[in-house]
Amino acid sequence: MRLSRYFMPILKENPKEAEIVSHRLMLRAGMIRQQAQGIYSWLPLGKRVLDKVNRIIREEQDRSGAIELLMPTLQSADLWQESGRYDDYGKEMLRIKDRQDRPLLYGPTNEEMITDIFRSYVKSYKSLPLNLYHIQLKFRDEIRPRFGTMRSREFLMKDAYSFDLTREDAIHSYNKMFVAYLRTFARMGLRAIPMRADTGPIGGNHSHEFIILAETGESEVFSHKDFVNFAIPSAETNFDDVAGLQAIFDKWTSLYAATSEMHDEAAFDAIPEGDRLSARGIEVGHIFYFGTKYSEPMGARVQGPDGKEHLVHMGSYGIGPTRLVPAIIEASHDENGIIWPASVAPFDVVVINMKAGDEACDGLCDRLYDGLGKAGKDVLYDDTDDRAGTKFATADLIGVPVQIIVGPRSAANGEVEVKDRKTGAREVMTLEAAMNKLL
Ligand code: ATP
Ligand code: MG
Ligand code: MG
Ligand code: MG
Repeated sequence: MRLSRYFMPILKENPKEAEIVSHRLMLRAGMIRQQAQGIYSWLPLGKRVLDKVNRIIREEQDRSGAIELLMPTLQSADLWQESGRYDDYGKEMLRIKDRQDRPLLYGPTNEEMITDIFRSYVKSYKSLPLNLYHIQLKFRDEIRPRFGTMRSREFLMKDAYSFDLTREDAIHSYNKMFVAYLRTFARMGLRAIPMRADTGPIGGNHSHEFIILAETGESEVFSHKDFVNFAIPSAETNFDDVAGLQAIFDKWTSLYAATSEMHDEAAFDAIPEGDRLSARGIEVGHIFYFGTKYSEPMGARVQGPDGKEHLVHMGSYGIGPTRLVPAIIEASHDENGIIWPASVAPFDVVVINMKAGDEACDGLCDRLYDGLGKAGKDVLYDDTDDRAGTKFATADLIGVPVQIIVGPRSAANGEVEVKDRKTGAREVMTLEAAMNKLL
């Protein structure tokens, strides 16, 4: 992408409305724009990051055996009346009427709709286990939308729903998602700690929130500090291995970790003082086993091996991609801007032409742009005639992991400077060496 032809509206001033660093940087880098309170457009740079986040989520959902579909944002109120949640949900639900005066709602979540899909087609235990997910916009009329897309009213959610014949099978499905989540967040350069979460009236210990530690987080969390160093399950993990997945779950829940709603002071105090972590965190994911809570009122049954009808056991599993983007920034930035982990960076490399119009500079830049692009790299080419200071500031602000700086003096010798955004380390090398370093 040539910057001169791109749409990346950088803000020079610090936006006053932004209270936390991720919100400030997302606005300054031209990633998002607020259209109404808590409702955002994703501008091209932001969209690139969001797509990369979604790709990682998809890959890990698919790896675990979940299957993608797409449900609509608008839902009929009927389904929610069946489950009993239409009246219970309260003011967070945006209720709409169509021209025939039929009540609709902008879905805050999709348990009812997926249960309806399931019951319409699946009749036998032989079709189980089944886990269906989508990545779709949700709307929740939050009392306090704030911090940009961290807590917005319209936001993207990956929500998966599992269906099993028995509780035991459902726990295996839960463990699959648990492992997929550990991998998903780690691939984005985040350390998410699964914490015991409130299961409300259902009880049991089968709900976990995945929390990123961050000073600006809205949740108060308490954890054993060893979680920070636990090994992430590998890509070779066998998701069909019931005992193997249970062992990973057991390990990752063997130490204390809870949000304030579930906090047990006495249990926390029993941890040696030096191992206690009392901090703030961001909820980036939440998984839940809830048994027959929806299958029962909505009549989702399958025939079992015994020939009888059984209510299916369900779970639901959410991740917030539009919250993850700011969460990643909260975890990775400096005074100059964002520092993207390579896996979610909007571009792999930015080529900075220090003197657009200079023959040597243009020549080297073109070769880098073409060569890296052909090799499958996402390249941003700063071919503008902005001042050097502006170019450097922009490159640092948008946080692309590698900068290749092409100035007239070194270009004459066929050399470029490669800067690592994270460490700030700079190295002069030949164009070929720079290419090889990136490929
Ligand atoms: P919170 O406690 O932050 O209000 P929640 O517990 O209501 O979140 P869930 O119903 O568990 O959210 O939804 C699953 C995921 O969707 C959350 O873990 C979070 O990543 C994301 N999410 C929920 N609400 C929002 C929001 N208003 N803006 C952005 N992402 C959200
Ligand atoms: Mg909420
Ligand atoms: Mg929550
Ligand atoms: Mg939650």
